Amino acid sequence: KHAGRNSVCFYSDIVHLKALGREHVAIQSRLSSAIRHGGLQVFYQPIVNARTGEIIAVEALARWMDDKSGWISPELFIPMAEKVGLIQELSEQIMLQSFAKLRDWRDSGLSQKLMINVSRSQLYLPTFVTSLVERLSQFKLRPSDVIVEVTESVALTDYARQMRHLRQLSDAGFVLAIDDFGTGYSSLSQLHEMPAKMLKVDVSFSQRLHTDEGRRVMQAIAQMAQGLQLDLVIEGVESLETVRFLQGLGVNYMQGFYFSQPVPCGVAELWMRLGLTGKL
Ligand code: C2E
Ligand code: MG
Ligand code: MG
Ligand code: MG
Repeated sequence: KHAGRNSVCFYSDIVHLKALGREHVAIQSRLSSAIRHGGLQVFYQPIVNARTGEIIAVEALARWMDDKSGWISPELFIPMAEKVGLIQELSEQIMLQSFAKLRDWRDSGLSQKLMINVSRSQLYLPTFVTSLVERLSQFKLRPSDVIVEVTESVALTDYARQMRHLRQLSDAGFVLAIDDFGTGYSSLSQLHEMPAKMLKVDVSFSQRLHTDEGRRVMQAIAQMAQGLQLDLVIEGVESLETVRFLQGLGVNYMQGFYFSQPVPCGVAELWMRLGLTGKL
């Protein structure tokens, strides 16, 4: 009601914005100017083969250092950018930076894929798939170089339209991953219909592995993924103990602070060259 009529906001956004109090209007305008003037950065986090420690991909994660407040979480500024209609410009910047980097990496013999996050409002645009393909070809990259992450909730609002765009992506040669899996509402049949090849299990599931129930839930997810022939990426892996448990379940890939935090491109490149086999 505060925001006036004709406005919709999500509970999680309210919590974030409330925490900022009156400052949030000022932050919003600084974000706009950062987006317009190229003030965003991209950090990269490795996704590791659970058996070999080999890095198969890096996820591009947007980073914003605000002059006044320091680092601001994407959990806050991504929804903010969506709200003020700047998510296109934001993702344009992230794509330009990460595609240019991927081009460099290809030129120097690295073959890892790039994983990018796509928000609900982007996926909704009719021109989304063609412009993504065009952007890639500017850098002489192909859709098969990129894995597109969409959240489970994205995949399920306005089902028919989103499904059409997901199919277009898949037909164009992109591998699709369902991000934050387990936090949305997809049914198994919908999941099976989706052209996704990969499930990224939300961080919260890794954080519950110290309980019997948490471990049973993870085991059930692993069995389901096998049954549906989907590759599993477990996010939020923070300890060797978790690694061992997940290896026992036969999961394919892992991502988390145990291997590496999201890091600047130079560090990511070093990891890609050296591999993270030592961690296993
Ligand atoms: P996500 O795509 O699910 O990314 C994973 C988040 O988990 C990242 O948070 C990452 O730093 C964090 N994480 C990784 N390993 C661990 C771990 O071991 N423990 C814990 N506790 N957390 C871990 P981050 O970078 O703050 O990003 C938050 C979200 O913001 C992302 O979630 C994604 O939904 C969104 N986001 C980030 N960059 C972009 C972007 O360029 N475009 C869009 N549309 N969304 C983005
Ligand atoms: Mg993601
Ligand atoms: Mg995720
Ligand atoms: Mg997430």
